[in-house]
Amino acid sequence: MNRSRPFENFVDGVPLELVWDGVIVDGGLRRARMSREDLFERLRPEGVEQLGQVRRVYLEQSGELSVFLLPADLVRPGLPIAPPWDVEAPHAGGLFGAVACQECGRVREQRSVPCECGELAVYPATIDPWQVSESCG
Ligand SMILES: [Zn+2]
Repeated sequence: MNRSRPFENFVDGVPLELVWDGVIVDGGLRRARMSREDLFERLRPEGVEQLGQVRRVYLEQSGELSVFLLPADLVRPGLPIAPPWDVEAPHAGGLFGAVACQECGRVREQRSVPCECGELAVYPATIDPWQVSESCG
C-alpha cells in the first residue's frame, strides 16, 4: 500500500480518494470541492456512524460517492459523524483513551500531541457514537 503517492490531477475516469482507512485524505475534499460536513452528510445514509467503519471513500467522475465499509469485526474506533454535529455535537470533554482528530479523523492515543495534520481539536474515538452521547448526556 503506497500512501505517499502524490495526487494526480483529476484525470478522466480516475476516482478521487476522500477517505483512506478511516482518515480524511489530505487535500481530497478541497479537490472534490466538498466540505467535511458535506462528506459526513453523504456518508450517514450509507450507515456510517464513525470513520473507523470506513475502508475507502471515492468521489466518482459522476459525482457519486463510492463507499467501502470494513467488515464488522475489523471496525475500529474513529471520528464520530453521527448524530449530525449540528444536531448534537460530540462531547469533547473528559476524554479517556483514544481520540480522533476533529479535522481528518486520524486516531491517536494522546490528545496532548497534535495530529499529523496539525489539528489539536479532538473527539472521542468510538466504535458506537450513540453510546458516547448517551453516557455523557
Ligand atoms: Zn488530523
